[in-house]
Amino acid sequence: MVGTGAVYAVGISGCKRPAEVTLVSAAKRNFGTPLYKVAHALIRDGGALPRVSKKVNCDYVVVGTGISGLTAALSLQAEGKHVVVVESENRAGGTAVSANLAGSKVPLGSVYFVDKTPEIEMLLSVGKIKPTVCPDDAYDFGTGELIRDLWSDETLNNAIADSSDRDGMYRFRDYVKGLGDSLPLYPLPETLNSELAKFDIQAESWVKKFDSRTLLTILNAYSRSSMGGLLQRTNVYCLLNFYSSEFGEGTTANRYTFPGGTSALVDAVTPSLHDMRYGQLAVRVANSASGAYVDCVGADGTLTRYEAKKVIFAGGKFQVSRLIENLPTAQKLACSKLEYAPYMTIHIVSDHPLVQNNVYDTWNLTSEFETDVVNPRSVFGSTLDKHVASLFIPMDQFMRVQLQSEELFARRAGEIVDRFINTRTPDQQASVREVYCWGWGHGMIIPTPGSHSGIAQDASRQFENIVFANTDCDASPSIESAAQRGGLAAIQALST
Ligand SMILES: Cc1cc2nc3c(=O)[nH]c(=O)nc-3n(C[C@H](O)[C@H](O)[C@H](O)COP(=O)(O)OP(=O)(O)OC[C@H]3O[C@@H](n4cnc5c(N)ncnc54)[C@H](O)[C@@H]3O)c2cc1C
Repeated sequence: MVGTGAVYAVGISGCKRPAEVTLVSAAKRNFGTPLYKVAHALIRDGGALPRVSKKVNCDYVVVGTGISGLTAALSLQAEGKHVVVVESENRAGGTAVSANLAGSKVPLGSVYFVDKTPEIEMLLSVGKIKPTVCPDDAYDFGTGELIRDLWSDETLNNAIADSSDRDGMYRFRDYVKGLGDSLPLYPLPETLNSELAKFDIQAESWVKKFDSRTLLTILNAYSRSSMGGLLQRTNVYCLLNFYSSEFGEGTTANRYTFPGGTSALVDAVTPSLHDMRYGQLAVRVANSASGAYVDCVGADGTLTRYEAKKVIFAGGKFQVSRLIENLPTAQKLACSKLEYAPYMTIHIVSDHPLVQNNVYDTWNLTSEFETDVVNPRSVFGSTLDKHVASLFIPMDQFMRVQLQSEELFARRAGEIVDRFINTRTPDQQASVREVYCWGWGHGMIIPTPGSHSGIAQDASRQFENIVFANTDCDASPSIESAAQRGGLAAIQALST
């Protein structure tokens, strides 16, 4: 998928649900993003492009309205530049997207951020919007009891009976808290020094050194949910950077969100952008004698050429070697080595809460499908009139194909919902009303071992007048990375 998601409400067979559950079958027509088929035909399969039927001139073109594209565009506009932003979907936000379910907005992709970096502060200030602190998480080890405040001495002592298992948890916690200035940071340096390079290794063998079964279970769930793959497929660099926020000053740091999800930030900043063009799929990006241009195809099949001094590409790099014909070979190779996680989110609307009311994110450590379940109604200021359980389901690479077929998608979602609902009480099961699914083809970049030692850097290199801004510039799938990269891309575009 070129777009980030495909909204899809499925009919679920075999699920123990009451007959009156509304399965919004009409939404099946929405399978795929508006230009989904065009993207596959023209970018993936290399179909012939239509002739240019219109030209637009500006100072800068930004491709993509995820957090990275929005940050880049706002930064350039703040310098008085005429910026045109093109986006293949009919909405802004990329993975920061919500849908109207249960009477109000529910986040379908990214749910929170941790660091109020300068770029995040800029977005908050432009949007005149304040985030709210997320309620606490809890861990479900399969006993039915929810464990909160996991990393405090008291909880570790009470929750983990085996002393060597518990000692490993302590050692890990204290190691991360003690990292201080050695904490690996983003944006990625051009070359990792020897101290940082030692973190760009497989996380699994590193975590095993702490010799704690529980730690391995928790971090595998965390790694899958936040980084798109088991610890086998992710590196220590990203794990430490991301997980350190779980400890913060005390044992937890604040995480921030908005009622309605991270799309609230997108909704707040987009009115400030002067020239947004939706339904414009970039199918070719090229340098030219006067700068660079982007060719975009719209839903009507016509092609518009956007000419500018520079182009900032803020979409995923999995497509750039097809979009940019003469991209240097080393960069093409680096782009091809970046890995993306297919992902599914499922949102179950019910009359009774399916997860504990005042817990934000419940980690289901014994589930083979969802890693965690977010409860958007627990967010302060939320106005949902029903309960929603949002299941986060990272998938293996080979499952990407399941996201591209309505039938396979529905079957897979059905299995997952069945399993989840069957772990609930009969009253909870009977109160389920609607189920929505959202598939992500390339929404999340995986920080694979070795990806930070040249691959991410080579893939992100400015190519004459084309600059890159997406989260995959750092192989670091977070909102902060996206904003940071967007800001850096704007500086790069202005300075060269
Ligand atoms: C399910 C899920 C949950 C997540 N949860 C969190 C979380 O809670 N916290 C967190 O920090 N991070 C989270 N992330 C990661 C985070 O959302 C992303 O890393 C970050 O938001 C990506 O922003 P971006 O701007 O780099 O890219 P994207 O959000 O992917 O935006 C790219 C945009 O470019 C557009 N585009 C792409 N190609 C083209 C083209 N050829 N022509 C025109 N337009 C194009 C896309 O349609 C899209 O709008 C999550 C990711 C996923 C998938």
